[in-house]
This record gives sequence, structure tokens and C-alpha cells, in this order.
Amino acid sequence: MINVTKTFFPPIEVYQKLLERIWQNQWLTNRGELLLELEEKIKKYLNLDNILITNNGTIPLQIALKLLANGGEIITTPFSYVATTSSIMWENCTPIFVDIHPEYLTIDETKIEAAITDKTSAILATHVFGNPCHVEAIYALAQKYNLKVIYDAAHCFGVTYNGKSIFEYGDVSTCSFHATKVFHTGEGGAVFTNDKELQHKIFYSHNFGHNGPLDFHGLGINAKISELQAAMGLSVLPFMEEILNGREKTVGFYNENLNLDKIQTLKLREGTNWNFSYYPIVLESENALLEVMDKLKEKDIFPRRYFYPSLNKLNYVAGPKMPISESIASRILCLPLSAEYKEEDLNIITNIINNVVC
Ligand SMILES: *Cc1c(COP(=O)(O)O)cnc(C)c1O
Repeated sequence: MINVTKTFFPPIEVYQKLLERIWQNQWLTNRGELLLELEEKIKKYLNLDNILITNNGTIPLQIALKLLANGGEIITTPFSYVATTSSIMWENCTPIFVDIHPEYLTIDETKIEAAITDKTSAILATHVFGNPCHVEAIYALAQKYNLKVIYDAAHCFGVTYNGKSIFEYGDVSTCSFHATKVFHTGEGGAVFTNDKELQHKIFYSHNFGHNGPLDFHGLGINAKISELQAAMGLSVLPFMEEILNGREKTVGFYNENLNLDKIQTLKLREGTNWNFSYYPIVLESENALLEVMDKLKEKDIFPRRYFYPSLNKLNYVAGPKMPISESIASRILCLPLSAEYKEEDLNIITNIINNVVC
């Protein structure tokens, strides 16, 4: 069976060595030695001054919204994973959707201004498939209207834009280290901000609000991660070059072998150093997509409709139609991508797709 992705498993001896350290320390969570080491190594790897590793990529979105948006209207993209919208609703904020750019697939920055009201408190946008939003235009709007900017950068581990980590843009960026992501800790995530005061608030918010064992800075939640997951991160990180090279090869194979006259792929924003996180194709119609899926399924190959549905269509949100996002969501498929898939399997995939679209 070939799935949309295959989780990278480091050699088990590497993980076992780290487990031995955990047993020696007799320390399982609450920012243990392995977690601190992982934070230091990721800061070096990404060339960042700060990072807080968390239990997933969703809770930090909620913490950021809690601290920065305070129940207001949040301008957001309808084309993302459900966590982007559900976090807004969970924090009792109101999502105000703005349609996406048809090729970059990120929020259409030219349509944001018309959606701003006096209740708008923040913009929460997703760097879709590791492709950066138009961060300059969004920054300018945020300055003009005094809005906070939160980026869901779940897909962006290792992405740089104009020479800087993509996590450096916006007031806060969040990442996911879920097993399906390019770098993973099984479950996990991280949050970044360059604002020292906000860093402090995020830090205590992620640990129940604690200020020492008996005192509290304020409201908090539990977004801590255990040493077991930190050990997984420490085991995966040394293989990043191998992982990225393998993924780049697969992306290259698709680029060369798919009939790209008939298939839309992701248009990367100029200045992006990408991480080969997903290979989305946009087909001519939903019927073509369903036909491709059926034929791949016969060969035990399972791409994923990602993202589907367009988030303005969720049954717990209300709002106007988002024609571009709805159209893309109905026709987009993420193809199997990992460092480990073999060319003979990829060949089956590209042949099936090319035969449907010809
Ligand atoms: C994976 C993902 C998340 C959620 O991350 P978790 O670590 O699974 O909580 C949020 N947003 C996007 C765009 C994602 O792809």
C-alpha cells in the first residue's frame, strides 16, 4: 500500500540510545534534558533565536489567538487544514474568510483590506504546503490597521523566504511536528515569536500559567511535550538532509513525468527555499479527480484530498461563498510523497494520472 506520505522511522538503535538516557534521568516530561537539547538543535538548524516546542501544532494556534485576538474577528483563509478554522472557533473568535490566490493557494492579500472591520483583531493565514503567503503585503495591512498576524506554518519546517526562516514573519508562527509532517516527533509542534514579552506569555500559557510551583502569571493550558517525543525528534533531526533529498527526488520525478500542460501544480512564491512537503495537483474537474483516485485505489495507492472541504463549508461556520477556494478544494489531490517511494511505484502513479487527463 502506498499512502500520501510515509512517516520517517529513524533506525531503532538511535531511538533506543536516547531512551536509555531518559531511563537514566528518570525524568519523563516538564521540559526535560532531551527536550531542551532538541530545542537548541532546532534553533541551530533553522537559524532562529527562539523556539518553544509544544505537544502539537494546534494548541499553539489557540494560545496565540487567546493572547492576541481576544474574541474578535479573525481574517483567515478557507484553504487550510481544519485546525486553522477550528482554533478560531474554539477561542470564541469569528472567522472572516478571504478567498485564495488561484496559483499560490495562499490567502489573496489583495482581498484582505475589504474584509477588515473595527472588530478585526488579527489575520491568521496558512503558508499552504510550505508556500509563503505574501508576507510583505500582510505586514503592511497589519501596520495600517493595527492588527496582529499569526501564521499557521504547520507545513514549513526548514522553509526560508528571502533568506530568513519563514517562522520569523508575523507576530507568531506555529509549526506541526505531527508524524505526517516533514520533520516529526510523532505528535508535536512549535511556536515562534520575536517579541520577548509575548514569548514570556506564550511560555507560561503553555504550562498552565505557572510562575513557579505555587504561583501563577495568569490563565494557561497544557501544551508540554514529553521526553519520549523529544527523543523521537532528536532521532529524526540528523536525517533531515536525507529526508529532504529523497523528497526532492520524488518531486523532480513528478515534475518530469506528469503531463503538466494538463495539470496545475503548486506555484512557489519567488524567494522561497522550499521543503518539498507536499505535491498537490489540481485537475480539470472533480470527476477527473475521482477517476484518478479510483484507478490509483485499484493499485493500492492512496493520495489524499488535501485540503477538502474548503473550510467555509464546515457545518459549524457561516459565511459567504469562496469560489476559488471551493473550486480548488474540489479538484486538488496531494500525491504520495516521501523519501522512500520507489520510481517504479511513482511511474504507476504518473501513468494513471496522465491517462486520465490526456
Ligand atoms: C497538520 C496541520 C495542523 C495541525 O497540526 P497538529 O500538530 O496535527 O495539531 C495545523 N494546520 C495545518 C495547515 C496542518 O497541516
